Formats: sequence, structure tokens, C-alpha cells
Amino acid sequence: MLLSVDSLDVSYGAIKALHGVSLHIDRGEIVTLIGANGAGKTTLLRTISGLLRPTKGCVKWHGECLPKQVGKDGDIHYRPAHEIVRLGVSHVPEGRQVFASLTVLENLRLGAYQRTDDITADLDRCFTLFPVLAERRSQRSGTLSGGEQQMLAIGRALMQKPQLLLLDEPSLGLAPLVVRKIFQIIREINEQGTTIFLVEQNAHLALTIAHRAYVLQTGRVIKSDKAQTLLNDPEVKEAYLGG
Ligand code: ATP
Repeated sequence: MLLSVDSLDVSYGAIKALHGVSLHIDRGEIVTLIGANGAGKTTLLRTISGLLRPTKGCVKWHGECLPKQVGKDGDIHYRPAHEIVRLGVSHVPEGRQVFASLTVLENLRLGAYQRTDDITADLDRCFTLFPVLAERRSQRSGTLSGGEQQMLAIGRALMQKPQLLLLDEPSLGLAPLVVRKIFQIIREINEQGTTIFLVEQNAHLALTIAHRAYVLQTGRVIKSDKAQTLLNDPEVKEAYLGG
């Protein structure tokens, strides 16, 4: 098991966004988390990445508690987000969040800023996966189309050579043809050995490429199964696949 989430509670002040969420992701899988607006999907990803602190429960990475570590003073400290990236978990945030004033190449190099080894092969890999990024390597990222920015956000995360890639709504605001292309590339990235945790509102597409899936409703996991099984589940069809 690569990552597990055990009985996780996360709150924003008095508002509890996640209630006892448990799930796991095995090496090599594409696991998707589907759910409506406000279900808590982004909250879960941000907690895994160390950007939010759980009030209860734990995230485990290779069986060890991810958010906390024992410091030199012997006390328990929260692990900063950049260390979680260094351990092998990269997050592609909702809304891409590319560095708009920097070029495509500069964004990709920033994705690898914690590495000290040669990144040439990984840049080449990004340009092979996303040829449009190679064509536009000197273009300022803020002037890219939404689809190109999404490709850049994924490429930037891959530059750290993650074991696990967290993807938050990669289809958001994109035309269907572009979405299909990006999902094909997500599958290709997985086939090349990267485990994927995909958070999506486009449940149909997500369930089509995933191996397993969880359904989150108002902060609680209400269903989990093989993706193919959930695609044919009457309740899932009714609530998330347009009947
Ligand atoms: P969407 O698909 O719309 O992004 P989501 O499933 O990712 O939704 P979250 O963004 O995780 O949902 O939000 C879960 C709940 O937590 C919502 O009720 C939301 O209003 C609340 N929430 C999220 N961020 C904050 C915040 N910074 N302060 C207070 N409440 C928040």
C-alpha cells in the first residue's frame, strides 16, 4: 500500500469538512474520488499534501504517518508541504496555478527545484508527453490556453518524479476534446509507472480511466468499489452520471 487515509477529520474553524474519511491507494493504481461541489475533495488532497492539518486521523505513506515527524528535539512536528513533495507526492492543484509571468520552461524547472541531479531526461519526457509545451517553451505561461496550462501544471508536477500524483479537477473549464486528450495522457503517465489519485467532478470520464473509486458526499465516503462497478451502480448513475 502506497498511501492510506485513516479516519480523517478536517475542519475549517467550526465547519467540519471531512468526517472520518478512510481510503487507500496501492502502487500502480489510478484511484479516483468523485463527488459534488463542496463534498470535500480538495480538502482531502490539501490535507494529504500537508497544506491543511487534520483534527483527527492520519495520512500514512508507505505505512508511516505522513503529516507528522519526530524532530531533533524529540517532539512531534508537522511536516512542511515541500518535504511531502520530496518524499514522492506531487499535487496538481485545482485551477492549475501556473506561474503566469514565467515561461513554460521556467515553470517546468521550478517543478524540479528540490532536485540536485540532472533533469534533462525529465524535461524531454514532459515534452514528449506534451509536445505543445516544447513548441511553447519560451512563451509566458499566463498566455497559454486553459488546456495548455493544465498540461503545464501536470508537467511541472512530474518534474519532481513523484511516486504518487494528486490531480485536482484536471477537466475543470476545458472543452471535451481537450479533456479527453488530457485523460489519455494521465493514463499514459500511469502506464509509465506513476500512481494517480484523481479528484474529479466529471465522474464518467474519471470512472472510465480509474481502476478503483471512492464517492465522497458531504465529507463522508459513502461508496467504494472497482471503477467499472461504480459506473454501473444505479445510485452513482442517478447522482453523478446524469441518470
Ligand atoms: P469543489 O468541487 O467545488 O472544489 P470540493 O469537493 O473540492 O468542492 P472543498 O473545496 O474541499 O470541496 O470544500 C469542502 C467544504 O469545506 C465546503 O463546505 C467548503 O465550503 C468548505 N471550505 C473549503 N475551504 C474552506 C475555507 N478556506 N474556509 C472555510 N470553509 C471552507
